[in-house]
Amino acid sequence: MNIYEETKFLMKKYNITANKNLGQNFLIENSVIHTILDSAKISKEDLIIEIGPGLGTLTQELLQRAKKVIAIELDEKMTTILNDRFHFYDNFQLIHQDVLKVDLKAMLQAEQMQRKQVKIVANLPYYITTPIIMKLLEDKLPIESITVMVQKEVAERLTAIPGEKNTGAITYCVSYYSEPTEVMVVPNHFFIPAPQVDSEVIHLEIREKPPVTLKKEEIFFKVIKASFMQRRKTLINGLANSNICTKETAKEILNKMNLPEHTRGETLSMEQFAQIANILCEE
Ligand code: SAM
Repeated sequence: MNIYEETKFLMKKYNITANKNLGQNFLIENSVIHTILDSAKISKEDLIIEIGPGLGTLTQELLQRAKKVIAIELDEKMTTILNDRFHFYDNFQLIHQDVLKVDLKAMLQAEQMQRKQVKIVANLPYYITTPIIMKLLEDKLPIESITVMVQKEVAERLTAIPGEKNTGAITYCVSYYSEPTEVMVVPNHFFIPAPQVDSEVIHLEIREKPPVTLKKEEIFFKVIKASFMQRRKTLINGLANSNICTKETAKEILNKMNLPEHTRGETLSMEQFAQIANILCEE
């Protein structure tokens, strides 16, 4: 049976209709699965956290390649199927919970694995892609990488170069914590049901050390969020409207950095945001 036939068979056997509210789009293309596994560079020493295993298509392959797979799935119907399929694998652990509520840090501490041997792999539910990625990065988990399928448009934003095309607040966050790369574009007909838009696999290699030096990380992210809150506003208005500083202070900072007063946040590099945040810490 190929993956397409297996997916159809499982959906029929368990009377499954994909739940749109849970972002269920099942992957049915073998080559994509192998590309995900290869770009995650999985070895027999690795612990893999899979988010949203669904019917278990990716899980099946992960179980062959990794030391252990911890799969986190919210939908009870899926957990029944996953248990039926994989309960006899001694390297399989299933957590039936909303991934956003799982204490991943505590879970990983209990596993006592080296950072280099912990990887996150997923075909993410699209309705919560951003909160999941933010949680994985901001929790500063001891992990080597995150390899995930997301909507193509989101992938472009996550992997954009800060200050260039397609930049959003999350671009800076991703680049601060990791080195992102685009792996492959996946057409929508490689899923059941087919989503409205194409998808893309991306790989985030977690940095051991941030690329900029900050006096206070919190101020850096506050400044970035404020500048992207109102996209068409200038940086001066963004900072003032978010009560980070007065317009006068913002103007002084831009003058100090030799930047024009009409500068908008999305044109700034990571280093320039770091400079602004560090000057604000001195005020
Ligand atoms: N991995 C499967 C595949 O590639 O065919 C399914 C991927 S599907 C895009 C997303 C999966 O995430 C679904 O199984 C869905 O039930 C699950 N999911 C949705 N919200 C979740 C959440 N908050 N926590 C954990 N899993 C969730």
